[in-house]
Amino acid sequence: MIDLTITEALQKLAKREISATELARAHIERIEKYNPKLNAYITTTPERALADAAAADERIKNRTPRVLDGIPIAMKDLFATRGIRTTAASRILENFVPEYESTISQKFIDSGTVLLGKSNLDEFAMGTFSKTSFFGAPVNPWQLERHLTAGGSSGGSTSAVASGMAMGATGTDTGGSIRFPCSITGLVGVKPTYGLCSRWGCVAFASSLDTPGPIARTVDDAALLLSVMAGHDPKDSTSSDVKTEISVPLQPILGDGKKLRVGIIRELADVKVSDDMKNLFEKRVADLKSLGAEIVEVSIPNILDALAAYYVIAPAEASSNLARYDGVRYGLRVEGSDIYDTYKKTRAAGFGDEVKRRMIIGTAVLSSSSYEVYFMQAARVRRLIADAFDRAFENCDLIVCPSGANTALPLDSDLTPLEYYALDLFTVAMNLAGIPAVSVPCGLAANGLPLGMQVVGRKFDDVRALQLAKHIEQCANVDNRPTKVMGK
Ligand code: GLN
Repeated sequence: MIDLTITEALQKLAKREISATELARAHIERIEKYNPKLNAYITTTPERALADAAAADERIKNRTPRVLDGIPIAMKDLFATRGIRTTAASRILENFVPEYESTISQKFIDSGTVLLGKSNLDEFAMGTFSKTSFFGAPVNPWQLERHLTAGGSSGGSTSAVASGMAMGATGTDTGGSIRFPCSITGLVGVKPTYGLCSRWGCVAFASSLDTPGPIARTVDDAALLLSVMAGHDPKDSTSSDVKTEISVPLQPILGDGKKLRVGIIRELADVKVSDDMKNLFEKRVADLKSLGAEIVEVSIPNILDALAAYYVIAPAEASSNLARYDGVRYGLRVEGSDIYDTYKKTRAAGFGDEVKRRMIIGTAVLSSSSYEVYFMQAARVRRLIADAFDRAFENCDLIVCPSGANTALPLDSDLTPLEYYALDLFTVAMNLAGIPAVSVPCGLAANGLPLGMQVVGRKFDDVRALQLAKHIEQCANVDNRPTKVMGK
Protein backbone atom coordinates (compact mmCIF):
# COMPACT_ATOMS: atom_id res chain seq x y z
CA MET A 1 0.00 0.00 0.00
CA ILE A 2 2.87 2.36 0.77
CA ASP A 3 3.97 2.31 -2.88
CA LEU A 4 0.80 4.07 -4.01
CA THR A 5 1.07 7.63 -5.22
CA ILE A 6 -1.29 10.16 -3.68
CA THR A 7 -3.27 10.30 -6.90
CA GLU A 8 -3.67 6.50 -6.95
CA ALA A 9 -4.54 6.33 -3.26
CA LEU A 10 -7.26 8.96 -3.65
CA GLN A 11 -8.89 6.89 -6.37
CA LYS A 12 -8.78 3.73 -4.27
CA LEU A 13 -10.11 5.60 -1.25
CA ALA A 14 -12.96 7.05 -3.27
CA LYS A 15 -13.89 3.60 -4.59
CA ARG A 16 -13.48 2.27 -1.05
CA GLU A 17 -11.00 -0.37 -2.20
CA ILE A 18 -8.86 0.75 0.72
CA SER A 19 -9.73 2.75 3.82
CA ALA A 20 -7.90 5.72 5.25
CA THR A 21 -7.42 3.74 8.45
CA GLU A 22 -5.70 0.90 6.58
CA LEU A 23 -3.53 3.42 4.79
CA ALA A 24 -2.61 5.15 8.05
CA ARG A 25 -1.83 1.78 9.72
CA ALA A 26 0.44 0.74 6.86
CA HIS A 27 2.39 3.97 7.24
CA ILE A 28 2.55 3.77 11.02
CA GLU A 29 3.96 0.24 10.74
CA ARG A 30 6.51 1.43 8.23
CA ILE A 31 7.53 4.22 10.62
CA GLU A 32 7.87 1.77 13.51
CA LYS A 33 10.08 -0.40 11.34
CA TYR A 34 12.26 2.19 9.66
CA ASN A 35 12.23 5.45 11.58
CA PRO A 36 14.73 4.14 14.15
CA LYS A 37 17.16 3.66 11.23
CA LEU A 38 16.22 6.75 9.21
CA ASN A 39 15.51 9.32 11.94
CA ALA A 40 13.15 11.09 9.55
CA TYR A 41 10.71 12.12 12.26
CA ILE A 42 11.48 14.15 15.36
CA THR A 43 7.98 13.49 16.71
CA THR A 44 5.52 10.86 15.49
CA THR A 45 1.79 11.26 16.05
CA PRO A 46 0.24 7.81 15.47
CA GLU A 47 -2.82 8.49 17.62
CA ARG A 48 -3.57 11.71 15.83
CA ALA A 49 -3.05 9.88 12.52
CA LEU A 50 -5.60 7.21 13.40
CA ALA A 51 -8.11 9.83 14.56
CA ASP A 52 -7.59 11.84 11.35
CA ALA A 53 -8.00 8.66 9.31
CA ALA A 54 -11.22 7.68 11.10
CA ALA A 55 -12.66 11.12 10.40
CA ALA A 56 -11.64 10.84 6.75
CA ASP A 57 -13.22 7.40 6.46
CA GLU A 58 -16.42 8.79 7.88
CA ARG A 59 -16.52 11.61 5.32
CA ILE A 60 -15.72 9.25 2.46
CA LYS A 61 -18.50 6.94 3.61
CA ASN A 62 -20.91 9.89 3.72
CA ARG A 63 -19.77 10.98 0.27
CA THR A 64 -18.51 14.33 1.53
CA PRO A 65 -14.79 13.81 0.92
CA ARG A 66 -12.23 16.59 0.98
CA VAL A 67 -9.45 17.06 -1.60
CA LEU A 68 -6.82 15.02 0.22
CA ASP A 69 -9.04 12.97 2.47
CA GLY A 70 -7.12 10.12 4.09
CA ILE A 71 -3.66 10.98 2.69
CA PRO A 72 -0.90 10.43 5.27
CA ILE A 73 1.65 13.21 5.35
CA ALA A 74 4.68 14.47 7.25
CA MET A 75 4.89 18.08 8.41
CA LYS A 76 8.34 19.67 8.50
CA ASP A 77 8.97 20.47 12.14
CA LEU A 78 9.21 24.15 11.31
CA PHE A 79 5.44 24.54 10.98
CA ALA A 80 3.68 25.28 14.26
CA THR A 81 1.12 22.59 15.09
CA ARG A 82 -1.29 23.25 17.92
CA GLY A 83 -0.72 20.90 20.84
CA ILE A 84 2.11 19.12 19.06
CA ARG A 85 5.72 19.91 19.88
CA THR A 86 7.37 22.11 17.26
CA THR A 87 11.14 22.20 17.61
CA ALA A 88 12.73 23.65 14.45
CA ALA A 89 15.26 20.89 15.29
CA SER A 90 16.74 23.19 17.90
CA ARG A 91 17.46 22.64 21.55
CA ILE A 92 16.05 26.07 22.25
CA LEU A 93 12.59 24.88 21.14
CA GLU A 94 13.02 21.28 22.29
CA ASN A 95 9.88 21.41 24.43
CA PHE A 96 7.92 24.13 22.67
CA VAL A 97 4.25 23.22 22.21
CA PRO A 98 2.45 25.92 20.17
CA GLU A 99 -1.02 27.09 21.01
CA TYR A 100 -1.74 27.92 17.42
CA GLU A 101 -1.69 26.20 14.05
CA SER A 102 0.35 27.48 11.08
CA THR A 103 -1.69 28.42 8.04
CA ILE A 104 -0.07 25.67 5.97
CA SER A 105 -0.73 22.88 8.48
CA GLN A 106 -4.27 24.21 8.95
CA LYS A 107 -4.81 23.94 5.19
CA PHE A 108 -3.73 20.32 5.34
CA ILE A 109 -6.14 19.68 8.21
CA ASP A 110 -8.91 21.33 6.20
CA SER A 111 -8.14 19.19 3.17
CA GLY A 112 -8.48 15.96 5.17
CA THR A 113 -4.88 14.74 5.42
CA VAL A 114 -3.65 12.37 8.09
CA LEU A 115 -0.76 13.72 10.16
CA LEU A 116 1.93 11.10 10.77
CA GLY A 117 4.37 13.37 12.54
CA LYS A 118 6.83 16.23 12.46
CA SER A 119 9.81 15.65 10.20
CA ASN A 120 13.45 16.31 10.95
CA LEU A 121 15.45 19.18 9.46
CA ASP A 122 18.53 21.28 9.91
CA GLU A 123 18.34 23.47 13.01
CA PHE A 124 16.16 26.45 12.02
CA ALA A 125 16.47 25.13 8.43
CA MET A 126 20.11 26.23 8.27
CA GLY A 127 22.13 23.61 6.46
CA THR A 128 22.31 21.23 3.52
CA PHE A 129 22.65 17.73 5.03
CA SER A 130 20.23 18.08 7.99
CA LYS A 131 23.26 17.41 10.16
CA THR A 132 22.77 20.55 12.20
CA SER A 133 19.60 19.05 13.74
CA PHE A 134 19.73 18.85 17.54
CA PHE A 135 18.03 15.45 17.09
CA GLY A 136 20.67 13.95 14.81
CA ALA A 137 20.59 13.74 11.03
CA PRO A 138 17.95 11.89 9.02
CA VAL A 139 19.29 9.21 6.65
CA ASN A 140 18.71 8.73 2.93
CA PRO A 141 16.75 5.52 2.29
CA TRP A 142 18.62 4.95 -0.99
CA GLN A 143 21.49 2.49 -0.36
CA LEU A 144 20.72 2.63 3.33
CA GLU A 145 23.86 0.73 4.33
CA ARG A 146 25.97 3.59 2.97
CA HIS A 147 24.45 6.06 5.42
CA LEU A 148 24.02 8.89 2.93
CA THR A 149 22.50 12.27 3.55
CA ALA A 150 18.86 12.81 2.65
CA GLY A 151 19.80 16.45 2.06
CA GLY A 152 18.80 19.53 3.93
CA SER A 153 17.21 21.35 5.34
CA SER A 154 14.03 19.38 4.57
CA GLY A 155 15.93 16.07 4.91
CA GLY A 156 13.45 14.46 7.30
CA SER A 157 10.64 15.12 4.85
CA THR A 158 12.57 13.61 1.93
CA SER A 159 13.70 10.63 3.99
CA ALA A 160 10.09 9.99 5.05
CA VAL A 161 8.57 10.30 1.57
CA ALA A 162 11.31 8.36 -0.24
CA SER A 163 11.09 5.49 2.27
CA GLY A 164 7.31 5.19 2.28
CA MET A 165 6.90 6.64 5.77
CA ALA A 166 4.63 9.35 4.29
CA MET A 167 2.97 9.86 0.91
CA GLY A 168 3.89 13.51 0.79
CA ALA A 169 5.39 16.16 3.01
CA THR A 170 5.88 19.85 3.50
CA GLY A 171 9.23 21.52 3.19
CA THR A 172 10.55 25.04 3.22
CA ASP A 173 13.03 26.43 0.75
CA THR A 174 15.08 29.48 1.67
CA GLY A 175 18.07 28.69 -0.53
CA GLY A 176 17.37 25.20 -1.85
CA SER A 177 16.08 23.23 1.12
CA ILE A 178 13.28 21.56 -0.83
CA ARG A 179 14.97 21.15 -4.19
CA PHE A 180 18.38 19.86 -3.09
CA PRO A 181 17.10 17.13 -0.74
CA CYS A 182 14.55 16.06 -3.37
CA SER A 183 17.21 15.82 -6.06
CA ILE A 184 19.30 13.32 -4.05
CA THR A 185 16.37 11.21 -2.84
CA GLY A 186 14.60 10.77 -6.19
CA LEU A 187 11.66 13.02 -5.30
CA VAL A 188 9.78 15.97 -6.72
CA GLY A 189 10.00 19.22 -4.78
CA VAL A 190 8.52 22.61 -5.49
CA LYS A 191 9.87 25.94 -4.35
CA PRO A 192 6.85 28.02 -5.29
CA THR A 193 6.81 31.70 -6.19
CA TYR A 194 7.59 33.75 -3.08
CA GLY A 195 4.30 34.71 -1.46
CA LEU A 196 2.23 31.91 -3.01
CA CYS A 197 2.24 29.86 0.21
CA SER A 198 1.75 31.53 3.56
CA ARG A 199 4.62 31.71 6.02
CA TRP A 200 2.33 32.41 8.97
CA GLY A 201 3.16 30.07 11.83
CA CYS A 202 6.27 28.80 10.09
CA VAL A 203 9.40 29.38 12.18
CA ALA A 204 11.25 32.19 10.44
CA PHE A 205 14.77 31.82 9.07
CA ALA A 206 15.18 34.53 6.39
CA SER A 207 11.78 36.07 5.84
CA SER A 208 12.36 37.56 2.39
CA LEU A 209 13.50 34.17 1.07
CA ASP A 210 11.55 31.53 3.08
CA THR A 211 9.12 29.62 0.87
CA PRO A 212 6.96 26.71 2.04
CA GLY A 213 6.40 24.05 -0.61
CA PRO A 214 5.47 20.41 -1.22
CA ILE A 215 7.56 17.24 -1.49
CA ALA A 216 6.15 14.13 -3.20
CA ARG A 217 7.04 11.16 -5.37
CA THR A 218 5.43 12.41 -8.57
CA VAL A 219 4.89 15.77 -10.21
CA ASP A 220 1.11 15.34 -10.14
CA ASP A 221 1.23 14.57 -6.42
CA ALA A 222 3.38 17.64 -5.78
CA ALA A 223 0.94 19.76 -7.78
CA LEU A 224 -1.95 18.40 -5.77
CA LEU A 225 -0.24 19.25 -2.49
CA LEU A 226 0.65 22.69 -3.80
CA SER A 227 -2.97 23.32 -4.76
CA VAL A 228 -3.85 22.87 -1.09
CA MET A 229 -0.95 24.96 0.23
CA ALA A 230 -1.27 27.94 -2.13
CA GLY A 231 -3.48 30.92 -1.53
CA HIS A 232 -3.65 34.36 -0.02
CA ASP A 233 -3.39 34.64 3.75
CA PRO A 234 -4.31 37.92 5.42
CA LYS A 235 -2.14 36.88 8.39
CA ASP A 236 1.03 37.03 6.25
CA SER A 237 1.71 40.50 4.89
CA THR A 238 3.95 39.11 2.12
CA SER A 239 1.35 36.60 1.00
CA SER A 240 0.19 37.26 -2.53
CA ASP A 241 -3.39 37.54 -3.73
CA VAL A 242 -2.56 36.39 -7.25
CA LYS A 243 -4.75 33.38 -7.93
CA THR A 244 -3.07 30.27 -9.31
CA GLU A 245 -5.32 27.60 -10.76
CA ILE A 246 -3.72 24.21 -10.26
CA SER A 247 -5.61 21.27 -11.69
CA VAL A 248 -4.41 17.71 -11.55
CA PRO A 249 -3.59 15.69 -13.61
CA LEU A 250 -1.36 18.32 -15.17
CA GLN A 251 -1.80 18.66 -18.89
CA PRO A 252 1.11 18.33 -21.36
CA ILE A 253 2.63 21.57 -22.66
CA LEU A 254 4.74 19.88 -25.31
CA GLY A 255 3.72 17.88 -28.37
CA ASP A 256 0.87 18.45 -30.83
CA GLY A 257 2.73 21.38 -32.35
CA LYS A 258 2.72 23.35 -29.08
CA LYS A 259 5.40 26.01 -28.95
CA LEU A 260 7.60 26.37 -25.91
CA ARG A 261 11.00 27.99 -25.54
CA VAL A 262 13.19 26.41 -22.89
CA GLY A 263 16.19 28.39 -21.71
CA ILE A 264 19.59 27.09 -20.64
CA ILE A 265 21.70 29.45 -18.53
CA ARG A 266 24.99 30.20 -20.28
CA GLU A 267 26.89 31.09 -17.10
CA LEU A 268 26.10 27.72 -15.52
CA ALA A 269 27.61 25.79 -18.42
CA ASP A 270 31.12 26.16 -16.99
CA VAL A 271 30.23 25.16 -13.46
CA LYS A 272 31.72 21.81 -12.61
CA VAL A 273 29.17 19.06 -12.06
CA SER A 274 29.61 15.27 -12.02
CA ASP A 275 29.73 13.50 -15.39
CA ASP A 276 26.45 11.79 -14.50
CA MET A 277 24.70 15.09 -13.83
CA LYS A 278 26.07 16.56 -17.05
CA ASN A 279 25.02 13.55 -19.13
CA LEU A 280 21.57 13.15 -17.62
CA PHE A 281 20.87 16.86 -17.93
CA GLU A 282 21.92 16.84 -21.59
CA LYS A 283 19.78 13.75 -22.22
CA ARG A 284 16.70 15.34 -20.74
CA VAL A 285 17.26 18.56 -22.67
CA ALA A 286 17.55 16.48 -25.85
CA ASP A 287 14.28 14.76 -24.90
CA LEU A 288 12.54 18.10 -24.51
CA LYS A 289 13.86 19.14 -27.87
CA SER A 290 12.56 16.01 -29.52
CA LEU A 291 9.18 16.66 -27.90
CA GLY A 292 9.12 19.97 -29.73
CA ALA A 293 10.65 22.47 -27.31
CA GLU A 294 12.90 25.13 -28.74
CA ILE A 295 16.10 25.26 -26.71
CA VAL A 296 17.57 28.74 -26.34
CA GLU A 297 20.57 30.08 -24.47
CA VAL A 298 19.89 32.79 -21.92
CA SER A 299 22.19 34.83 -19.72
CA ILE A 300 21.99 35.59 -16.01
CA PRO A 301 25.29 37.51 -15.77
CA ASN A 302 25.52 37.62 -11.97
CA ILE A 303 24.24 34.16 -11.20
CA LEU A 304 27.57 32.99 -9.82
CA ASP A 305 27.46 35.85 -7.31
CA ALA A 306 24.13 34.59 -5.97
CA LEU A 307 25.83 32.41 -3.35
CA ALA A 308 27.79 35.30 -1.87
CA ALA A 309 24.71 37.53 -1.85
CA TYR A 310 22.60 34.79 -0.28
CA TYR A 311 25.12 34.11 2.47
CA VAL A 312 24.98 37.78 3.44
CA ILE A 313 21.22 38.34 3.18
CA ALA A 314 20.05 35.05 4.75
CA PRO A 315 22.26 35.33 7.87
CA ALA A 316 21.39 39.04 8.20
CA GLU A 317 17.68 38.24 8.32
CA ALA A 318 18.28 35.21 10.51
CA SER A 319 20.22 37.20 13.08
CA SER A 320 17.26 39.51 13.41
CA ASN A 321 14.60 36.77 13.37
CA LEU A 322 16.36 34.67 15.97
CA ALA A 323 16.70 37.54 18.44
CA ARG A 324 13.29 36.53 19.81
CA TYR A 325 14.68 33.37 21.44
CA ASP A 326 15.81 34.97 24.64
CA GLY A 327 14.67 32.58 27.34
CA VAL A 328 11.77 34.85 28.23
CA ARG A 329 9.10 34.19 25.66
CA TYR A 330 9.85 30.82 24.15
CA GLY A 331 11.35 27.49 24.99
CA LEU A 332 14.59 26.93 26.82
CA ARG A 333 15.63 29.20 29.69
CA VAL A 334 18.93 28.93 31.50
CA GLU A 335 18.84 31.12 34.59
CA GLY A 336 21.72 33.60 34.94
CA SER A 337 22.80 36.16 37.51
CA ASP A 338 20.74 38.89 35.85
CA ILE A 339 18.57 39.21 32.73
CA TYR A 340 21.55 39.75 30.39
CA ASP A 341 23.30 36.76 31.83
CA THR A 342 20.08 34.75 31.32
CA TYR A 343 19.96 35.80 27.66
CA LYS A 344 23.57 34.79 27.20
CA LYS A 345 23.36 31.47 28.96
CA THR A 346 20.06 30.56 27.28
CA ARG A 347 21.30 31.34 23.79
CA ALA A 348 24.71 29.76 24.37
CA ALA A 349 23.06 26.51 25.45
CA GLY A 350 20.06 26.62 23.11
CA PHE A 351 21.62 27.18 19.68
CA GLY A 352 23.97 24.90 17.78
CA ASP A 353 27.22 25.95 16.10
CA GLU A 354 25.86 26.60 12.60
CA VAL A 355 23.05 28.78 13.91
CA LYS A 356 25.52 30.73 16.02
CA ARG A 357 27.80 31.14 13.02
CA ARG A 358 24.92 32.59 10.99
CA MET A 359 23.93 34.99 13.75
CA ILE A 360 27.50 36.23 14.07
CA ILE A 361 27.83 36.68 10.28
CA GLY A 362 24.42 38.34 10.15
CA THR A 363 25.16 40.74 12.97
CA ALA A 364 28.51 41.60 11.42
CA VAL A 365 27.13 42.39 7.94
CA LEU A 366 24.43 44.57 9.48
CA SER A 367 26.84 46.54 11.69
CA SER A 368 27.27 50.20 10.80
CA SER A 369 30.80 49.68 9.47
CA SER A 370 29.82 46.76 7.20
CA TYR A 371 26.24 47.51 6.23
CA GLU A 372 27.06 49.40 3.04
CA VAL A 373 29.81 47.10 1.77
CA TYR A 374 28.12 43.82 2.59
CA PHE A 375 24.38 44.05 3.11
CA MET A 376 23.62 46.81 0.60
CA GLN A 377 25.99 45.32 -1.94
CA ALA A 378 24.27 41.93 -1.57
CA ALA A 379 20.88 43.61 -1.97
CA ARG A 380 22.10 45.19 -5.23
CA VAL A 381 23.35 41.85 -6.54
CA ARG A 382 19.97 40.39 -5.64
CA ARG A 383 18.25 43.07 -7.72
CA LEU A 384 20.60 42.43 -10.68
CA ILE A 385 19.81 38.72 -10.56
CA ALA A 386 16.05 39.25 -10.37
CA ASP A 387 16.19 41.71 -13.29
CA ALA A 388 18.34 39.32 -15.31
CA PHE A 389 15.76 36.56 -14.86
CA ASP A 390 13.05 38.97 -16.03
CA ARG A 391 15.07 39.72 -19.15
CA ALA A 392 15.86 36.05 -19.75
CA PHE A 393 12.14 35.28 -19.65
CA GLU A 394 11.60 37.70 -22.53
CA ASN A 395 13.46 35.14 -24.65
CA CYS A 396 12.15 31.93 -23.18
CA ASP A 397 9.14 30.55 -21.33
CA LEU A 398 10.88 28.35 -18.78
CA ILE A 399 14.49 27.66 -17.79
CA VAL A 400 16.09 24.32 -16.92
CA CYS A 401 19.27 23.69 -14.92
CA PRO A 402 20.69 21.04 -12.57
CA SER A 403 19.46 20.93 -8.96
CA GLY A 404 22.91 20.07 -7.64
CA ALA A 405 26.29 18.86 -8.81
CA ASN A 406 26.29 15.35 -7.43
CA THR A 407 24.46 12.39 -5.94
CA ALA A 408 24.02 12.07 -2.15
CA LEU A 409 27.23 12.14 -0.14
CA PRO A 410 27.86 10.08 3.01
CA LEU A 411 26.65 11.73 6.20
CA ASP A 412 30.13 11.54 7.66
CA SER A 413 31.66 13.58 4.82
CA ASP A 414 33.93 16.13 6.38
CA LEU A 415 33.10 19.38 4.63
CA THR A 416 33.98 22.89 5.78
CA PRO A 417 31.14 25.39 6.21
CA LEU A 418 32.13 27.03 2.93
CA GLU A 419 32.05 23.69 1.13
CA TYR A 420 28.52 23.14 2.41
CA TYR A 421 27.49 26.62 1.30
CA ALA A 422 28.89 25.96 -2.18
CA LEU A 423 26.43 23.07 -2.62
CA ASP A 424 23.65 25.66 -2.92
CA LEU A 425 25.10 27.14 -6.09
CA PHE A 426 22.26 25.95 -8.33
CA THR A 427 19.38 26.83 -6.04
CA VAL A 428 19.87 30.15 -4.22
CA ALA A 429 19.41 32.46 -7.23
CA MET A 430 15.73 31.50 -7.53
CA ASN A 431 15.10 32.42 -3.91
CA LEU A 432 16.81 35.77 -4.37
CA ALA A 433 14.58 36.38 -7.42
CA GLY A 434 11.43 35.03 -5.76
CA ILE A 435 10.61 32.85 -8.78
CA PRO A 436 9.24 29.29 -8.82
CA ALA A 437 11.48 26.26 -9.35
CA VAL A 438 10.58 22.58 -9.41
CA SER A 439 13.16 19.86 -8.85
CA VAL A 440 12.31 16.65 -10.68
CA PRO A 441 14.30 13.40 -10.98
CA CYS A 442 16.26 13.36 -14.25
CA GLY A 443 17.72 9.88 -13.94
CA LEU A 444 19.99 7.56 -12.01
CA ALA A 445 23.75 8.02 -11.89
CA ALA A 446 26.17 5.15 -12.55
CA ASN A 447 26.28 4.48 -8.79
CA GLY A 448 22.52 3.84 -8.83
CA LEU A 449 21.59 7.03 -6.99
CA PRO A 450 19.07 9.59 -8.23
CA LEU A 451 19.79 13.07 -9.55
CA GLY A 452 17.43 15.96 -10.11
CA MET A 453 17.11 18.95 -12.37
CA GLN A 454 15.12 22.14 -12.03
CA VAL A 455 12.44 23.81 -14.09
CA VAL A 456 12.35 27.51 -13.33
CA GLY A 457 9.55 29.88 -14.26
CA ARG A 458 8.46 33.47 -14.14
CA LYS A 459 6.74 34.69 -11.00
CA PHE A 460 3.41 32.86 -10.61
CA ASP A 461 4.18 30.56 -13.51
CA ASP A 462 4.41 27.67 -11.06
CA VAL A 463 1.94 25.54 -12.98
CA ARG A 464 3.78 25.65 -16.28
CA ALA A 465 7.02 24.79 -14.46
CA LEU A 466 5.23 21.75 -13.06
CA GLN A 467 3.85 20.85 -16.48
CA LEU A 468 7.32 20.84 -18.03
CA ALA A 469 8.65 18.92 -15.03
CA LYS A 470 6.05 16.25 -15.75
CA HIS A 471 7.46 15.77 -19.25
CA ILE A 472 10.94 15.40 -17.75
CA GLU A 473 9.60 12.92 -15.18
CA GLN A 474 8.09 10.82 -17.95
CA CYS A 475 11.32 10.83 -19.99
CA ALA A 476 13.55 10.04 -17.01
CA ASN A 477 11.21 7.34 -15.72
CA VAL A 478 12.99 6.86 -12.38
CA ASP A 479 11.47 4.11 -10.27
CA ASN A 480 11.20 5.70 -6.82
CA ARG A 481 8.66 3.37 -5.27
CA PRO A 482 9.63 2.97 -1.60
CA THR A 483 9.75 -0.83 -1.71
CA LYS A 484 12.06 -0.54 -4.70
CA VAL A 485 14.27 2.03 -2.96
CA MET A 486 14.62 0.17 0.33
CA GLY A 487 12.71 -3.10 0.31
CA LYS A 488 9.49 -4.23 1.93
N1 GLN B 1 21.51 25.24 2.41
C1 GLN B 1 21.01 26.57 2.52
C2 GLN B 1 21.39 27.16 3.84
O1 GLN B 1 22.03 26.49 4.58
C3 GLN B 1 19.53 26.60 2.28
C4 GLN B 1 18.71 26.32 3.49
C5 GLN B 1 17.25 26.45 3.23
O2 GLN B 1 16.79 26.58 2.10
N2 GLN B 1 16.49 26.47 4.31
O3 GLN B 1 21.07 28.25 4.17
